[in-house]
Amino acid sequence: MRKKQIAILGSTGSIGTQALQVIEEHADRYEVYALTANERVEQLIGQARKFLPEAVVIANESKYSILKEALNDLPIKVYAGEEALCQIVESQPIDIVLTAMVGYSGLKPTINAIKARKVIALANKETLVVAGELIEQLAREYRVPILPVDSEHSAVFQCIVGEGNNEIEKIILTASGGPFRNYSLRELESVTRGQALQHPNWKMGAKITIDSATLMNKGFEMIEARWLFGVKPEQVEAIIHPQAIIHSMVQFCDGTIKAQMGVADMRMPIQYAFSYPDRLSSSCRRLDFAACGQLTFDKPDPQRFRNLALACEAMFKGGNLPCIVNAANEVVVAAFLQERISFLQMSDIIEKTISKVSFIHTPAYEDYVETDKEARLLAQSLL
Ligand code: MN
Repeated sequence: MRKKQIAILGSTGSIGTQALQVIEEHADRYEVYALTANERVEQLIGQARKFLPEAVVIANESKYSILKEALNDLPIKVYAGEEALCQIVESQPIDIVLTAMVGYSGLKPTINAIKARKVIALANKETLVVAGELIEQLAREYRVPILPVDSEHSAVFQCIVGEGNNEIEKIILTASGGPFRNYSLRELESVTRGQALQHPNWKMGAKITIDSATLMNKGFEMIEARWLFGVKPEQVEAIIHPQAIIHSMVQFCDGTIKAQMGVADMRMPIQYAFSYPDRLSSSCRRLDFAACGQLTFDKPDPQRFRNLALACEAMFKGGNLPCIVNAANEVVVAAFLQERISFLQMSDIIEKTISKVSFIHTPAYEDYVETDKEARLLAQSLL
């Protein structure tokens, strides 16, 4: 059997490193073709020496010589820069492109990979938040499957496998609620960066951990679900489920609800995206129901978690609004991580940015690029 060739964009991040664990566990089926990273050159060198890909790319061009030097004794092609990153995904032997980079930077390489007819294992949800309509059209045009890696969307996907054209009534995304689930607005005023980085269930990168604490992540996931599964905004719902045992649910036209459950381990959805439609063995821990205790559910509160309300508004209005929200959010999350603004100021600045960037009903690719630039500058000026 020919091994599937995988390109991992963002290989030094949380998803990237866990994807490499999956590939290692199933080395008889998968092989790393390309690894790319933004900044962490030392880690990329280590991964390259271990997995011996055809090519590596470092986005930050100033780190090219370090990378090149360190891999001199190996037959690995070394590239640097955004352009190289966009080109590497088009390499003929690649079967699957795992998009696991952070934020807006995922958009262009994902578009290129779709046009080169690669299967997309999508972890970079911002791609669908920013330009879901465009991506969905391209995937249809080029007949490219987009397989979700996000745990909630993998759960939904697993619930609809085998359902054919059966009508989906509602998609119910579960949310852990983050570390501040029970905090009052007053308490939220003074929460710190350190507290926000303590996610109760999942170990993830810094950006998504903050997005989980503000519930922006859940709002983005609602937008992501809408495009991935072709449903209307009113058919997507979020529910707080702190135990994170149910990873999401689908309600069908007869009222039946299917739920996908398991332990919180990202290696499972990553592996399913690689192996679909097959299931492979896994060394992940098994869920022990007797040790689970109670499963509880609660309504999310858009008053305390305004980012969720802002993302929902963006989902319903569409156009370039989700792109504006995403750009402003990337700016404020970075500023919060640098302790330049408070937790609640993040929502204030996003809201102000929305009111100042002009709305475009049916944006083309160039409009997204422009909107992203404009919204970032505006949000920066509001810090
Ligand atoms: Mn998720």
